[in-house]
Amino acid sequence: MSPSGMAGITENRRTARNVSSSRPAQNGTGPAESEPDALTIGRRIRYLRTSKGMTLDDLASAIDRAPSQVSTLENGKREPKFSQLQAIARALGAGVDDLLSAEPPSERDALEIELERAQRGPLFATLGLEGVRIGKSLPHDALATILALHRELERLHSERAATPEEARRANGELRDDMRAKDNYLPELEQVAKALLADVGHTSGPLPQRMAAEIAAHLGFTLHYVSDLPHSTRSVIDTRYRRVYLPSKGFRGRSNTRSALLQALASHVLDHTEPRDYGEFLRQRVEANYLAAALMVPEKPGVKFLRDAKDERAIAIEDLRDAFGVSFETAAHRFTNLATRHLGIPVHFMKVHESGILHKAYENDGVRFPSDALGAVEGQHVCKQWTARRVFDVEDRFNPYAQYTDTTSGTYWCTSRVENTPDGAFSVSVGVPFAHVKWFEGRETTERRASRCPDESCCRRPPQELSEKWGDFAWPSARPHASMLAAMPSGAYPGVETTEVYKFLERHAPED
Ligand SMILES: [Zn+2]
Repeated sequence: MSPSGMAGITENRRTARNVSSSRPAQNGTGPAESEPDALTIGRRIRYLRTSKGMTLDDLASAIDRAPSQVSTLENGKREPKFSQLQAIARALGAGVDDLLSAEPPSERDALEIELERAQRGPLFATLGLEGVRIGKSLPHDALATILALHRELERLHSERAATPEEARRANGELRDDMRAKDNYLPELEQVAKALLADVGHTSGPLPQRMAAEIAAHLGFTLHYVSDLPHSTRSVIDTRYRRVYLPSKGFRGRSNTRSALLQALASHVLDHTEPRDYGEFLRQRVEANYLAAALMVPEKPGVKFLRDAKDERAIAIEDLRDAFGVSFETAAHRFTNLATRHLGIPVHFMKVHESGILHKAYENDGVRFPSDALGAVEGQHVCKQWTARRVFDVEDRFNPYAQYTDTTSGTYWCTSRVENTPDGAFSVSVGVPFAHVKWFEGRETTERRASRCPDESCCRRPPQELSEKWGDFAWPSARPHASMLAAMPSGAYPGVETTEVYKFLERHAPED
């Protein structure tokens, strides 16, 4: 299961932590909820039998079987034949439907069935432990606690399987490193400057056509195709020196300039097949950085921002408009230049509409949501934060700004929602309260308080609602592919190499 899928379940699990809930946890060990399995049928038989005051022997003789056979059925060790079910139903004065219902006969039975399934499951088998004896002699609180442990074991197991240690560590190291450098890489600024000088661009924003000139300068021709492999934004063929890009409007992305510059950036930086996941991440950060540094060159970018700061009117959308880039690129570029050149500490977030954090950077002390091991990507962002609240704002034309009081101080953030084929994402830039005086939008009256990671902030529902609905709500988490889960396999994580090679073969010119 993906970490983001897991996070959804975690949240839902927290609201349903009360284990006396009559519903078994959806932990992957049981069959589909709607079909009765042998275990549930057995439980229903036993329930009806005991509520009629019949013993095992009574029922056995009524249906002309040995008591041990009835016991096997009641324990769910065997699926009863339909003719048997009919006989049992008759003996119990019930209908066959009563036996075939998927509903556990009682709350206690639901818990026992769940534990039985967990103990028969593959995860428990790997532990080499003896299961507890499930029956009347097992106290209710012990049953509840053992079940809670099983659920937690299952959750931790899925989480670890989905996000290998290496990926987490590499992510954390890279984030620490970028924070130490204030998200500013002077050597890449130099590479960008030299490349721009090579193609004769010395001042101002980079015109659209210059990206193609950079490609030509590096000896590449551009090819727009409609069958680019699904897992790629662009493909470079270094044998014939071609760059393949999606034809216009393909998959709803019109930003081919940024795709082209990123592809060229990897080439300029001599990136080779990454040796490990850490190197893969670093290459991606460098390619993104260089592409952004070409689109918003340092010198004119800094001049633009300094002028805006002098007028106390810094606005990310102004930077976006002045350089003809996406809001995300403008926000990213702002974080590169803000601390080093303007003396402003910042944070940046890209958050999916589901509330999951996809990208994050900070050097202003803001506390991102994090799991026990310190990973922030894939975590749920506080519902009070600008990055989440912006989704509720109807006006998607103007940027949304908000003050947020957090456990590490008050921040002001500006945010925008951008629609992509993968759903809507908010891109946010924030600064500590002391620096808001430089920004447009500081006059906003929107203000929220966030107590996260305290669960009572926005993760745990209000007690009144919990009491009313706790036993009556059963949402299913929607599984979705996560970037993190896909990454660590293959030479270029997340890319299907075979698909890429076949694509290149198909498009190669005749020798
Ligand atoms: Zn919160």
